[in-house]
Amino acid sequence: MYDVAKIRADFPILAREVNGKPLVYLDNGASAQKPRIVIDAMTHAYAEEYANVHRGLHYLSNLATEKYEGVRGIIARFLGAPDPEEIVFTTGTTEGINLISYAWAAPRMEAGDEIVLSVLEHHANIVPWHFLRERQGVVLKWVEPAPDGSLDPEKVVAAIGPKTKLVAVTQMSNVTGTLVDVASICRGAKAKGVPVLVDGSQGAVHRPVSIPAIGCDFYAITGHKLYGPSGSGAIWIAKDRMAEMRPFLGGGDMIREVTRDLVTYNDPPMKFEAGTPGIVQQIGLGVALEYLMALGMENVAAHEAALRDYARERFKGLNWLNLQGDAPDKGAIFSFTLEGPAHAHDISTVLDKKGIAVRAGTHCAMPLLDHLGVTATCRASFGLYNTTEEVDRLVEALELCHELFA
Ligand code: PLP
Repeated sequence: MYDVAKIRADFPILAREVNGKPLVYLDNGASAQKPRIVIDAMTHAYAEEYANVHRGLHYLSNLATEKYEGVRGIIARFLGAPDPEEIVFTTGTTEGINLISYAWAAPRMEAGDEIVLSVLEHHANIVPWHFLRERQGVVLKWVEPAPDGSLDPEKVVAAIGPKTKLVAVTQMSNVTGTLVDVASICRGAKAKGVPVLVDGSQGAVHRPVSIPAIGCDFYAITGHKLYGPSGSGAIWIAKDRMAEMRPFLGGGDMIREVTRDLVTYNDPPMKFEAGTPGIVQQIGLGVALEYLMALGMENVAAHEAALRDYARERFKGLNWLNLQGDAPDKGAIFSFTLEGPAHAHDISTVLDKKGIAVRAGTHCAMPLLDHLGVTATCRASFGLYNTTEEVDRLVEALELCHELFA
């Protein structure tokens, strides 16, 4: 039984007030709050088990290495991936996608080669490809969502031509909550011999993930949205793709041997992990993922689907609220504007006064906002600890905004 009150008690910050009101935290799309076991595990790691990893022969270094390396296996299990050696630690999705752009894509793309992207993408899955456009003349081919924000996988597959070298697509939009059928995209791309990178930054947070079922080549996650620490994350890379990659950052740990004239590299995945990593951050991420697996991602998904349906029903009654993209298959993320002169920033300021945290702006997705024909939206993004009462608090505060700004 999914007991949301019990789950909320695991997250100390949810008990606090903001502006004299109980906090309603609806900014999970930007970053999620942390359960006490993650906070405690990080404190414990610093207080009792801290040393640098890999290089040491002493007790604490071995202990820290064991804990840190163990997280590869936890991430693999969370993603349904068979082999922990296919997990590369990163500081988050942004680093993961930049790694693929630099180490895999750049050396194998020439002027005129194409990367197929959707207009739903976050800047983290756009700008690293713009680098290749600017530096190497790579062409970005954009696939538009339907008016309701949904993305037809067949349109993405149809955009793959003889010059396409990669498809890069999100599993879930951080703006509209649209869920993308990435498995169908991968099937179609594979039939055309083209690798697929899936941005799982949002997708992995809200539904169970199985990499074999998706069939992608690269899958990026970011720890701070998964109820883990900021600065943690990973990218899963298929073994055969990993073998094709040059190193990314150079430094300690990623080498086998360095002389004055020569350098040889460590085996993957360490070949792509230079320097002292986020040791305690990744340990914290491991604990967060264990927490999610103990709750059961199917249960998290069911809870959030119920919240989405409840919010949809409540929003229907607000005829001055313009939802931006409301695809049938979407998660509990709602972007909206209000009829009238109020800017998204004004609305979020009023909501903040009521203790409600939402995000306002372009959400690092300017091409999508341009497509939607808006300069900014407010975004309420729900997580595993949110409740229908919090939806009611949001609706009540939006009604106040409507009165104030109409
Ligand atoms: N992709 C999506 C869909 C996101 O929502 C985000 C974060 O908002 C990112 C990528 C970037 O993640 P990070 O900033 O943690 O690297």
